[in-house]
Amino acid sequence: MNLIKTRGLVLKSISYGEYDKILTVLTQEAGKISVMVKGGKSINHGKSSQTLLFSYGDYILYDKGGMYILSSAEVIESFYDLTKDLDKLNLASEILQFINFTCDESEDLSDLLRVTLNTLYALVHYDKSLAMVKAVFYTKMCECLGIAPALGVCMECGDVQMGKFSPSFGGTLCADCASECPDAVSVSPQTAQVMEYILSCDIKKMFSFKAAEEDFTNVYTLIKEFIKIHLDYEI
Ligand SMILES: [Zn+2]
Repeated sequence: MNLIKTRGLVLKSISYGEYDKILTVLTQEAGKISVMVKGGKSINHGKSSQTLLFSYGDYILYDKGGMYILSSAEVIESFYDLTKDLDKLNLASEILQFINFTCDESEDLSDLLRVTLNTLYALVHYDKSLAMVKAVFYTKMCECLGIAPALGVCMECGDVQMGKFSPSFGGTLCADCASECPDAVSVSPQTAQVMEYILSCDIKKMFSFKAAEEDFTNVYTLIKEFIKIHLDYEI
């Protein structure tokens, strides 16, 4: 029996039959995989604490007829404190659903995984506001997925006096060009700056900055609409 060791984050956990569970795990080495946990529903089962949703850890698996079976697991970070705050738990669930949806479309899963882990970590350990976490996570994900909005100048004419953002055009526009574009909305220089910082910063610095809550809320509103159009996904 060949054992496979992989490190990953459990995105989804569903019951299978009377006693078993099937986990969806985003791994560094093997991408997104399904793993069966025999007896995973039993509270007394030795592996039960390692099969919870949100757990990031090392998983030892074996292949049985094309299906990965969990042999053992060692949790590195359980993000257990998420269960103590309903708003954080809901946001974390929303984030995992989004990752589960998008990781089929991404070529670079390791960046996707890093962004997700940093986000869960910021939510649990740094107590960042929900508005900041949402704005940063979804904007950074657009960069990882290769669909980052274009900012800085008007996308149509190159004018530096841009003051509008159009989700369908995919970035900033000047007032003149925006008049042709029905979904263009005004964007303040501060909000555009926050979005630009998130898109250009290193993943490990994505939560190491400060901005007004209002700007995080504005960035999230814009990026939510952008994702709806470009990924056909409703947050
Ligand atoms: Zn223009």
